[in-house]
Amino acid sequence: MTESIEQAQSTDAALRSRAKAVIPGGMYGHQNARHLPAEFPQFFVRGEGSRIWDADGNEYVDLMCSYGPIVLGHRHPRVEAAAAAQLARADCQNGPAPCIVELAELLVERVEHADWALFAKNGTDATTTCVMAARAGTGRNKVLVAEGAYHGAAPWCTPRPNGTTPEDRAHLVHYTYNDLPSVEAAIDAVGDDLAAIVVSPFKHDAGSDQELVDVEFARGLRRICDEQDAALILDDVRCGWRLAHGGSWEPIGVDPDLSAWSKAMANGYPISAVLGNDRFRTGANRLFVTGSFWFAAVAMAAAIETIRTHRDEEAVDRMERAGRLLRQGLDSQAASHGVGIRQTGPVQMPELSFEDDAGFDKARLFSATTVRHGAYVHPWHNWFLSAAHSERDIDRALQATEAGFAAVRKTFGD
Ligand code: PMP
Repeated sequence: MTESIEQAQSTDAALRSRAKAVIPGGMYGHQNARHLPAEFPQFFVRGEGSRIWDADGNEYVDLMCSYGPIVLGHRHPRVEAAAAAQLARADCQNGPAPCIVELAELLVERVEHADWALFAKNGTDATTTCVMAARAGTGRNKVLVAEGAYHGAAPWCTPRPNGTTPEDRAHLVHYTYNDLPSVEAAIDAVGDDLAAIVVSPFKHDAGSDQELVDVEFARGLRRICDEQDAALILDDVRCGWRLAHGGSWEPIGVDPDLSAWSKAMANGYPISAVLGNDRFRTGANRLFVTGSFWFAAVAMAAAIETIRTHRDEEAVDRMERAGRLLRQGLDSQAASHGVGIRQTGPVQMPELSFEDDAGFDKARLFSATTVRHGAYVHPWHNWFLSAAHSERDIDRALQATEAGFAAVRKTFGD
């Protein structure tokens, strides 16, 4: 009897119950599937191009791209070859491999505001190092961040402060995204102690509609930082290499002093970067920032090949094309089902929300049904497209979302 129950249990469920015994909470952080509808798998075993497979062998069109890192498609042959070639020589050594210099030169060449680069592992390392470089460069303490914005899970910025002290955030002051008067009010409050303003390329807070940056707001931040002799820090961790080949504010002509990068820069290999201009070179020189794995060569080799391939394959254009098809398809499906939706943010980082859905009940049902029908989406976080998404992939994904909308109509009415 016990045996037949065990046989009936999915691999995912079996792994979850083992994980519960040996991993805090059974899983942790943003990839904890316990907060998602039950249809979402927790464990995955394979990815190829635009597709992923869970531990039970179910295939999905991947519309989350590992929460951003996969920008060219899973296991892109050029990136894999470069990583394998480096791995055959060395990865973790007593000092960095020569490719660290090549990667820094490449980024300084491709990102307009950058005169130097340093490398770490996660986005949080990069945003934290930006803030440290700003403080070391200005000798000041206060840092302005947008209310509700995510810049990482470190004590100075985590949105969920269990295990931290209020003092960790003592020098953080909030403003409202796209609202210059709120920035000016925050500046008045900090007096002459402003080290930096941190801003994301657009407002991409989870659980809310996305808001593109108002160009006048971006220019205003630049002007204020110049007037105050403070650093403008662009957190390009989520948007970097998705909106542009280069800095995400290059198309609007506003240069930050420091920028934080990670996610997509090595197509899934673990690396992050801080880029800075000459004004903050001295601040960066003064820092002691490091980590046992920050100099590992494989991810650097992968980053170099990702950035080159990204331009060669016109990755931004491809993502925009796929994103437009997806957005049009979702709009027409929602309309034909009489389901009210909003789609916000850039098409290659889609955010779908439902009208009258403050508790995300419709979003949960829609995403659960869509996942069950073979497209991996998220109920309240923005999705991500990659350059591997073809028209066929979007068609396949739309078959799944069609089932999602039908379920929402059936349960919540026209
Ligand atoms: N900044 C932004 C805008 C992010 O989206 C994230 C990660 N979602 C981070 C910083 C932190 O990156 P990581 O999780 O790699 O530390």
